[in-house]
Amino acid sequence: MPIFHECQRCTACCRWPGQVRLTDAEIARLAKFLGLRDGEFIERFTRLRDDRRGLSLVEKPNGECVFLDGNDCSVQSVKPQQCRDFPNLWNFPGFEKTCHAIPRLVGEEEYRRLVAQATGRSLHEIEAPV
Ligand code: SF4
Ligand code: SF4
Repeated sequence: MPIFHECQRCTACCRWPGQVRLTDAEIARLAKFLGLRDGEFIERFTRLRDDRRGLSLVEKPNGECVFLDGNDCSVQSVKPQQCRDFPNLWNFPGFEKTCHAIPRLVGEEEYRRLVAQATGRSLHEIEAPV
């Protein structure tokens, strides 16, 4: 049976070192949300990714995401897909040691429904793991 990880909004994943990749559409959405022109947003909140193939969000000096505000994401309604997809559609070995998401064994249809809800993706994009 598939395992759905139910996020507990502990924000640990917003504090890990790493890169939050951005597509052009995400940049446009974030800029609009913040009332900025795309160019202004890029200048203030992005940097070149390590692989130099695109942009990612900048971090605060302490390493946490620039949009983490206390224990909340200040851009929650328009946060990048990479943030939405963790930990159900991507994760890494041992992520459970720091991520407090609760693993739940669910049926395939329920898995697809829950992941679609958690990630904002459409149902047909979600496949239950085999
Ligand atoms: S954009 Fe929001 S959800 Fe994504 S890492 Fe930053 S604070 Fe966390
Ligand atoms: S995905 Fe995991 S680490 Fe990130 S906020 Fe949810 S429970 Fe915390």
